[in-house]
Amino acid sequence: MRIVTGADEVLEVRRALDDPRRLVLALGLAKGATRQRGGMVIKCPEPNHRDSTPSCSVRLGRDGTIACRCHGCGWSGDALTLVAVALGLDMDRDFRDVLEEAAAIAGVRLEPRADGQRVEGRARPAPRRPAPEPEPEPEPMPDATFASIVAPLLYAGRLDGSPLVADVERYLEARGLIEEARADGWTGLPEPGALVAWVDMLRAVAEPAEGYAPPFTQADLEGSGLLAPGGRTLSHPAARVVIPWRTAAGTVATIQRRRLDAGVPKYVFPSGRAPSAPYGVDRLAELGPDAPVAFVEGAVDVLALRILYRRNGVARVVLGIPGLGGWRPAWAELARGRDAIVAFDGDKAGEDAVEGVARDLFDAGALRVRRAAPVGAKDWAEALAS
Ligand SMILES: [Zn+2]
Repeated sequence: MRIVTGADEVLEVRRALDDPRRLVLALGLAKGATRQRGGMVIKCPEPNHRDSTPSCSVRLGRDGTIACRCHGCGWSGDALTLVAVALGLDMDRDFRDVLEEAAAIAGVRLEPRADGQRVEGRARPAPRRPAPEPEPEPEPMPDATFASIVAPLLYAGRLDGSPLVADVERYLEARGLIEEARADGWTGLPEPGALVAWVDMLRAVAEPAEGYAPPFTQADLEGSGLLAPGGRTLSHPAARVVIPWRTAAGTVATIQRRRLDAGVPKYVFPSGRAPSAPYGVDRLAELGPDAPVAFVEGAVDVLALRILYRRNGVARVVLGIPGLGGWRPAWAELARGRDAIVAFDGDKAGEDAVEGVARDLFDAGALRVRRAAPVGAKDWAEALAS
């Protein structure tokens, strides 16, 4: 491959494209084409022609470069014109792109673009017609709307001794977390068979009636990420512990749910609604602006470490990240001006994640950063229970 520069580029690329058949193949124009002396006859690439039989000649001209001429509509051009029309590019507006595509086919290497936008290795021609515009990303549902959808679920599932959620209570009780969980608004969902009626309840709440303006619409419910395909029940109906993740202002921005059995996934968030803040951020201000902040893995460990700190008379905020992969560097800002403790699990994954998170915390202005790990337990919940 030679590197050509400046004003010679166009001439060089046109000269290097000295094989009409190869160019036609590279541009995806060979379908229905026939050979002719010195080249091919192809279906006319000019979009307005709608050629059904090959009528456009692509061959080497007297000067040794490719010349194209349609005998049907009169369209004509050189190799670059053919590249442009085949790829849906404009010879004036997109000339640099045309030249680069042509150079890639010819095996000529151009001098890199001054603006650095040259795309390397685009050997395959783009589709002839521009791809349809991708669907715009739907706007995420406002937190307040999501909160209004889950409010009836949180109310119906509150941990007040109802037999429908008795096994959720037993699970939290066994781990020593029930009081802390109640105080944080954790709730339960009934067994999958009964869950259908709870989804019916949500639909009824969304139904307008005289003198009643629903807090959310049926469309909001459909777009909440909570429903299973078909919409009759929630997705992951076996995930029965309900953990509200709040914004700093206390709005329930998403709910995490946990299975009671050994099935997977153990934890789920609604589709498209990963938390935007760590668990417990709504209680950051509670202990004052100087209280140290500890980061743990998950909401269960937030409750457990909070209990352990309180037991030891230590005033510390505990924040939970949704798994090690869910850490966001922006969350380090929450430790600005405070001491920070990285209290991830003592396993290898936890240890591996500590360094990066600690650096983020330093960068964000944490006063001191130190590591704490549960001793003799895999996580804080186990340490609490032992
Ligand atoms: Zn034509």
